Amino acid sequence: MPFTELQYQLDERAAQGLLRRRRELESPQGVRITVGGEPCLSFCSNDYLGLAHHPQVIAAMQAGANQYGVGSGASHLVSGHFNVHRQLENELADFVCKPAALVFSTGYLANLGAVQALVGRGDTVFADKLNHASLNDAMLLSRAGIKRYRHNDVAHLQQLLEHTESGRKLIITDAVFSMDGDIAPLPELLALCERYDAWLLVDDAHGFGVLGDEGRGSLAHFNLDSPRIIYMATLGKAAGVSGAFVAAEQVVIETLLNTARSYIYTTASSPALATALLASLELIRTEEWRRTKLNELIEQLRNGLAGLPWKILDSGTSIQPLLVGSNEAALVLSEGLLTRGIWVPAIRPPTVPQGTARLRISLSAAHDARDVSQLIEVLRDLAR
Ligand code: PMP
Repeated sequence: MPFTELQYQLDERAAQGLLRRRRELESPQGVRITVGGEPCLSFCSNDYLGLAHHPQVIAAMQAGANQYGVGSGASHLVSGHFNVHRQLENELADFVCKPAALVFSTGYLANLGAVQALVGRGDTVFADKLNHASLNDAMLLSRAGIKRYRHNDVAHLQQLLEHTESGRKLIITDAVFSMDGDIAPLPELLALCERYDAWLLVDDAHGFGVLGDEGRGSLAHFNLDSPRIIYMATLGKAAGVSGAFVAAEQVVIETLLNTARSYIYTTASSPALATALLASLELIRTEEWRRTKLNELIEQLRNGLAGLPWKILDSGTSIQPLLVGSNEAALVLSEGLLTRGIWVPAIRPPTVPQGTARLRISLSAAHDARDVSQLIEVLRDLAR
């Protein structure tokens, strides 16, 4: 029977503590959720600003559905492109200070499409070793040559650039690393781009809405502005909805529109999502208190976790990983928290390197100081 091998592989995974399973939410995404009939305090969503079930965003989505219906009905280049998609693209481009933007259905698709449209055979992609899986898959799909540099190691990247002669050069990096929470040295990467005539694709999935003035993201955080930068951000995290966009020079966006296969050959996202996103963008821009609160919670958590047996990684963002090491130990700790009503996921290889399984604590502006105190207390208890 041809499936025996699949079962064997799954059993192997289970034996290594690597089997994945899903838990079902019965409430809106948020901080206080219901899972399996039980109330639970969650530190595991990317809804960093608490907008995923904000009444204004919900109302905008309902209004969008009333006006446009639910499905887009086709891909953008056929007949699935609505005026509200264009309005969203204009607002996003303005927001991140780029001339133009293109909305994709997901961040995974945006990365696949952008890299594949910009480089191909004979070109070279330079990638941080801890980049998100979607960037890794994108560079494989592009058929360009691949050079991976040690995490955030600008000197290593420079050596690799020095030894690359021909073709286009594209540096790709997470801006905020999704499983580590640290920030890429974007000014130094841009300086290398200038020196070696390369482009820089910045994946700001975890910085958009959270970092920079008014939540404009990691480019604003560093005050960076260059036509060499191709900016990508997702809209299912701090923006609380779904989707992604690439923002860049007009010629880059026009190239993506014409050649990014993951843009062309997929159904456009629902126009109702675009109306929801316009409302969410307004909240991101105007409600500074969400970022202020998030930063206070980050500080509280980091102070509270000092001295525990697990190392808290050096991160100043809403992603606060607690390094455990073995897969089993990470699972046991995560289960221990869950039996006390707190959900923090254990992140294991291949999402993170072997031997670095961790709890990925993610904080949201929807948490309050008592939630964070509760997490600290329970972790202290479990450490004993
Ligand atoms: N890039 C990074 C850094 C991410 O963390 C994610 C989502 N986990 C993505 C891209 C993919 O975005 P999406 O979930 O919208 O496909």
